[in-house]
Amino acid sequence: MTSNSTDAIPVALLPGDGIGPEISAAVTEIVDAAGAGIEWIPCAAGERVFRGGDPTGLPAATIDTIRRCGVALKAPLATPLGGGERSANVRLRETFETFAAIRPAAVLPGLEGHARFPGVDLVLIRENLEDLYLGLEYGLDRGVSVALKANSQTNTRRICQAAFAVAQALGRRRVTGISKSNILKVTDGGFDRIFDEEAARWKGIEADRILVDAAACRLVTRPESFDVIVTSNLYGDILSDLTAGLVGGLGVCASINLGREVALFEAVHGTAPDIAGRNLANPTALLRAAVLLLDHVGRFAAARRIERALALVLREGSALTSDLAANGAGVSTSDFTRTVIAAM
Ligand code: NAD
Repeated sequence: MTSNSTDAIPVALLPGDGIGPEISAAVTEIVDAAGAGIEWIPCAAGERVFRGGDPTGLPAATIDTIRRCGVALKAPLATPLGGGERSANVRLRETFETFAAIRPAAVLPGLEGHARFPGVDLVLIRENLEDLYLGLEYGLDRGVSVALKANSQTNTRRICQAAFAVAQALGRRRVTGISKSNILKVTDGGFDRIFDEEAARWKGIEADRILVDAAACRLVTRPESFDVIVTSNLYGDILSDLTAGLVGGLGVCASINLGREVALFEAVHGTAPDIAGRNLANPTALLRAAVLLLDHVGRFAAARRIERALALVLREGSALTSDLAANGAGVSTSDFTRTVIAAM
């Protein structure tokens, strides 16, 4: 969905769990102050829905609103650990077939001093629907348990196509496919074969492949050597936290979950239960997600206004939240929010 008109654009807002409500309030306040013209439509999901007795964590009204808007800003949702209900995050991805998670990792202007590798500027694209995340686990006799890693040709092909399309749209030079095909010859071998077929179709974009273990090493020794990365669900989950760590941490990285019908914009981090409800959370990652969302719906001027203000505040450095402040003694979420708004 794109628009250059001045009509308010409806966006589904999932305030999430843990620090979610605090950072959602901060981000919507900043986006509104930037004059973006967004009509936020709050939607229930996650913990409160589970507690209310709905085992899906995702009410039908929320699904309808997201489908109607085509675009959503989603704060993190808690996943019950080691049993209980399935993740509402996974259910969202399945419901809307958001087959690609697109995770840019670039050092934010103003945060150069916080990043170990100031030159990093990569985009990681992760398959989002299958692989070990199908949740097909079984306990067998004699103390053995198995989990099924299932990878379809259809999803592998569309994720590889998405990677080359993103590279082309962003003027990037190279796409690197990551797998473990030396061990997993059928599942990951299939990924390699489809990656190579797609690579041959996209003229003008270089392509190479690397095993996931070697990729992990190169990401922490020469991360600047990566441009666009495409990989399956589990490797992408792990490596995207690693790439977030390269550029300032989970508190500053955003992600797009892209499907044919909808795009869900979110922070890479989780609900941070250790600091929830204490007005300490850094809203920057969700704010970065909101900036990507504004570009997606055509509100470019507001997106640039927020980017400029955020860069000023981060560079000036006296109003950072504790995850970024040099001595760990940062300002509150609400003070950070006020400072960004004042800088616009
Ligand atoms: P987490 O990302 O919530 O927290 C890891 C560490 O980073 C914590 O110390 C936390 O305080 C800190 N942190 C994270 N975000 C921060 C922010 N914005 N500002 C300051 N500090 C921040 O990871 P976790 O503890 O492994 O997961 C907690 C819950 O979040 C789990 O239920 C998990 O399933 C869920 N989760 C949800 C999503 C999502 O909704 N997309 C993503 C990851 C984890």
